[in-house]
Amino acid sequence: MTKTVLIIGAGIAGCAASHQFSRLGGFKTTIIDSAPVIGAGVRTDWYGGHPFTFGPRYFLTQNQKVFDYFNQIVPLRVWDEHEYLTYVEKDQRFYTYPIHMGDIRHMPDADKILIELDKRINKNLSDASNFEEYWSKAVGQTLYDKFIDGYNKKMWQVDSNKEIDFYSWSPKGVDLETGMRGAWNSAICAYPYAYNGYNNFFDISTSECEIILNTSLEVINIEKKKFKIQNLERQFDIVVNTISPDLLFNQDEGALNYIGRDIEKIIFPSEYVLPKNVFFLYYSGKESYTRIVEYKKLTKHKSNTSLLGIEYPSKNGRHYPVPTKKGYNLAGNYIERLPDNFYSIGRAGSYLYAIDMDDCVEQALNLYDIVKSGGSKGMVECNAIKKFSPKN
Ligand SMILES: Cc1cc2nc3c(=O)[nH]c(=O)nc-3n(C[C@H](O)[C@H](O)[C@H](O)COP(=O)(O)OP(=O)(O)OC[C@H]3O[C@@H](n4cnc5c(N)ncnc54)[C@H](O)[C@@H]3O)c2cc1C
Repeated sequence: MTKTVLIIGAGIAGCAASHQFSRLGGFKTTIIDSAPVIGAGVRTDWYGGHPFTFGPRYFLTQNQKVFDYFNQIVPLRVWDEHEYLTYVEKDQRFYTYPIHMGDIRHMPDADKILIELDKRINKNLSDASNFEEYWSKAVGQTLYDKFIDGYNKKMWQVDSNKEIDFYSWSPKGVDLETGMRGAWNSAICAYPYAYNGYNNFFDISTSECEIILNTSLEVINIEKKKFKIQNLERQFDIVVNTISPDLLFNQDEGALNYIGRDIEKIIFPSEYVLPKNVFFLYYSGKESYTRIVEYKKLTKHKSNTSLLGIEYPSKNGRHYPVPTKKGYNLAGNYIERLPDNFYSIGRAGSYLYAIDMDDCVEQALNLYDIVKSGGSKGMVECNAIKKFSPKN
């Protein structure tokens, strides 16, 4: 008998999940989203003749299976050479991001930093109780003050980084010795060849699915998987959630905290603005923005103007789950309350900042295996959860 599936949220996680049910066959799938289009912030839109997404959204993965799956649907251009820079006002200089020994040796306070780095070898990081303690021990006080303190406060909109007590992530294997090279060596960096970016993925992955847009989820009974959708009561055999789990339970144990984003788009009258191979600039100081992205570097769009996006942390949207153990535990409590055949995936659905686009796809592929082998419930694992979740 055909089983019915509801997918809540049509971002990359929801769309990838929808595709798994088409691949499995024998399911009637419905996807619901409060937005007017599928794809969320990963969807390509156009401004001043330039394609852009909400933030960079480049595909960085260490998982060949995820890359192969995605690349088969939307061919991805792979690149090796790219850089991010961080501006440090104290030195009035840009440095390679993440912090890198090659740069440190040329800093005005290099002697002091190198002594602090030597001392850090004897420090035990596992007993650090918050982000500030962890990172000031990990890289020394001077580098922490220059690169991390201001950026992190701005990113999470906190007065003190002691408020952030979950800190053991680093972008895909980057370390001090190798900087971004460390990530390049073990990860594939890519972006779609197509000027419309990932949009074909969203269309293809949901092509056999009923799509309901401009509609927020109304829960009638989670245990029975019963919802009110456009004034109709509907019950499903399987549910895949990709939105914040507190919303499924009317926040009855408390609300989960997120930071949102505003992005200002600016067209510049030159073919490129940032130096060759530089995709992003990060700002570690008191500026109100965290990052500037030159979209062309990703999209390879040809034009004699260039579009840059300036990102401001804000209250708009539930984009970044705030990394506190209290938050992860609360999200975990909500997810544990889900009944059989009710799953949670995606960045908000896992309440984990470390969940990137590739991790959403990995969770969807793992969901395929779970459903195929008879089903289960709750959070769908992926490597990022194994590596970065405070529970592991
Ligand atoms: C600015 C920015 C830049 C990023 N850049 C990168 C990058 O370069 N590379 C990378 O790998 N990752 C990047 N990420 C992270 C990555 O894009 C996300 O982890 C991923 O897109 C999350 O997908 P998702 O499907 O889980 O959630 P979302 O994309 O948030 O989708 C959730 C969907 O649920 C819908 N929804 C929400 N509430 C309801 C409701 N009550 N009822 C119905 N629908 C609802 C929303 O409208 C949305 O469409 C970036 C994130 C941001 C915010």
